[in-house]
Amino acid sequence: MRIMNFNKRKVDLKNWGAISAADWKNWEWQAKNRIRTLPKLAGYFGLSSETVQPLKTVAGVYHFSMTPYYLSLINKEDESDPIRRQCFPDIKEVQFTIDGVPDPLEEEACMPVPGLVHRYADRCLAIATNRCVTYCRHCNRKRMWGKNLPTRQKDYLKRMVDYVASSPVIREVIVSGGDPLTLNESLLDWFLGSLRSIRHVDVLRIGSRMPVVMPMRITHDLCRMLRSNRPLWFNTQFNHPRELTMESARACDMLLEAGIPVSNQSVLLKGVNDDYEVMRDLVYGLQRLSVRPYYLFQCDPVAGTDHFRCDILKGMAIIEKLWLNVSGLCLPRYVIDSPGRGGKIPIQPFSLLADRSQAH
Ligand code: SF4
Repeated sequence: MRIMNFNKRKVDLKNWGAISAADWKNWEWQAKNRIRTLPKLAGYFGLSSETVQPLKTVAGVYHFSMTPYYLSLINKEDESDPIRRQCFPDIKEVQFTIDGVPDPLEEEACMPVPGLVHRYADRCLAIATNRCVTYCRHCNRKRMWGKNLPTRQKDYLKRMVDYVASSPVIREVIVSGGDPLTLNESLLDWFLGSLRSIRHVDVLRIGSRMPVVMPMRITHDLCRMLRSNRPLWFNTQFNHPRELTMESARACDMLLEAGIPVSNQSVLLKGVNDDYEVMRDLVYGLQRLSVRPYYLFQCDPVAGTDHFRCDILKGMAIIEKLWLNVSGLCLPRYVIDSPGRGGKIPIQPFSLLADRSQAH
């Protein structure tokens, strides 16, 4: 594949002390050097103590973490930078006028064993971990951040495998989190292999934001391991065209070369991508990467995310314009996820349909 026309910014390694280009490309270096404390955040962005003070309240409720790579996508001079908005703690997370609830999809009520969400008959979701390398401020599982697992990690995963093995209706398992690619690689291989060995499980799916927030994590070893557990689909979450860098393009290409289809599930976020041109550039960029724009989610009413939620009419206007102007291969389905077993409700561009029905 030609890896071209992606965000080729110049990374200033001096921000990180005496490191080499090889360090920068090493995912373990990236994970170890995440910014996770307010003094480090203040140092990196040059924040005053008045700016930092309110962030203490937010950080006391929702912790934060950002990889050096993801930080390198941010324009430090712009407080409303769309990448910054996705990872930088905001006082609005704890000061709101209308707030959501911790678990709007009622996942906890659909867990036959801890961490295993069984909302639809033929598939289930395994929340393999609650850890991520970058904590997205709009995350719909903020409620889980920082909590201890009920048991040892392998026992926790084994109970999920046992449940799936005893449920012949399940043909697909979505392994998500948190980010499952934060798990130890041999443990993840064991988990995927155990699910794969269940006769009635046809397909595995991984949900991970690593290609977006730390693309170095997609290594040849990881791709080999994932390849050995095929059929396996990979879903990621690019929300803005500036996240499509040479590094993330390479990560997606490696997965595709390993025979793993990659799809994208964006979330419609106020101040990030609630704009036709931004969304058009994102879906065009994804198509150039052979990554399928699969869903555009209306942001769930999760506690601490009210400032990200857009009016549905605005989302419909964006999707209508996409329908009119971009090819079908670039079109994501705009959906609202509903609680419990209600499923995903597609939002169609009704005015277009109405216009056409009048024309005939
Ligand atoms: S990577 Fe996914 S699970 Fe982790 S914080 Fe972001 S949206 Fe939430």
